[in-house]
Amino acid sequence: MNRTENTVTNPPLPNNYASEFLIIKDGKGVWLRDISGKKYLDFTGGIAVNALGYGRADLAEIAYKQMKSVTHTSNLFTTEPVLQLAVKMVRSWNFSAVHFSNSGSEANETAIKYARLYSSRVKGKDSHKLLCFSNGFHGRTLGALSCTPKAKYQEPFMPLLPGVTIAEYNNTEQLLELADSTYAGIIVEVVQGEGGLDSMTEDFARALNETCKKYDILLIADEIQTGLSRTGTFYASEGVGLQPDIITLAKPLAGGLPLSATLIPDKVNDLIHVGEHGTTFGGGPVTTAVASKIWDILSDKDFIEEVKQKGDYLNKLLSDLKSRHGFLGSVKGKGLLAGIRYRGRAKGKDDKAVQDDIQRIMSTAREEEGLLILRSGTDVLRFAPPLIISREELALGVEKLESVFKKIF
Ligand code: PMP
Repeated sequence: MNRTENTVTNPPLPNNYASEFLIIKDGKGVWLRDISGKKYLDFTGGIAVNALGYGRADLAEIAYKQMKSVTHTSNLFTTEPVLQLAVKMVRSWNFSAVHFSNSGSEANETAIKYARLYSSRVKGKDSHKLLCFSNGFHGRTLGALSCTPKAKYQEPFMPLLPGVTIAEYNNTEQLLELADSTYAGIIVEVVQGEGGLDSMTEDFARALNETCKKYDILLIADEIQTGLSRTGTFYASEGVGLQPDIITLAKPLAGGLPLSATLIPDKVNDLIHVGEHGTTFGGGPVTTAVASKIWDILSDKDFIEEVKQKGDYLNKLLSDLKSRHGFLGSVKGKGLLAGIRYRGRAKGKDDKAVQDDIQRIMSTAREEEGLLILRSGTDVLRFAPPLIISREELALGVEKLESVFKKIF
């Protein structure tokens, strides 16, 4: 392990992460500071987690108070914070219950299990299949991974779940051809956060709604990255008219504490028996107490409208940026889950050259401009800043990005 004044190389963390890490010390608002004191404008938001930004004394106070009282009870008992949050969550749409867990993967794992349970009890044991989509991302546990069709993620861990079909995202015709009553669930993102920021079309949303109704397939909207106002509507599903039976949530739910949720309707909850699913840590009093406060802030109509307007502003800034640089492609995403495609600097550039350029853009942004950004898919620069970001900070981030282009190209 080697250290510089603000980075560490080869720490005792598994090789599935980078070999070099920036060491973060603290943060305030949308700014992070490393251990050398250097500041960074954070367009990563902890990968769409830190919706309310850093250094939130109000959230820390809630966690502190709850930890002094009772930190964990197990799901043999419940507590007021759990009940308060669960009631708010089921009222947010037409849900009957919420299963809390610890990560996005687990929320999807739960959704997959519930879909199978429902389908086997209503349609029979043979109706266990799952449909997912190209460039989708649903997590790293084996069930969720089975619905995440990327060779790099899947191949070392084969065999995965049987009965998973991959269809092309936004291809209505193919969906109608493939679907039948042997499917238990269809899992889908409204904006593909990890896979390149493609957005669901309204036509595809309608086809998903109708297909799922026709064959009694449970429609699972993975809103782990898009949910809780990030795309300018509380649920991204609302924005395109998707009518999911199940919604999964995680990233911003508890402000960086590990909490995820699987929201289910009556028809599923009615069929589940005691002991058929469970978790030790999922939905403890500390995470839910913090999440309750976050829920109130993120579900406020004015807050959502503000995110929408800031998303439109970021979209305009990125469109203007694109018009000034021929190597940039389409502006992608929705609201404050936005991105821009990097096409490469010359025709005929191979993938490797594009990858190297993107790596250089990201590291120059960090080292020379103090701007932290993400990638989505292979060639999209992704921005998922805290939702409390100001217009000035959005403009500053895009200015910094343009300075990076000027420096290296
Ligand atoms: N679904 C989506 C849409 C995600 O973006 C992610 C995480 N990037 C997951 C599922 C998995 O979440 P986790 O890493 O918390 O398991």
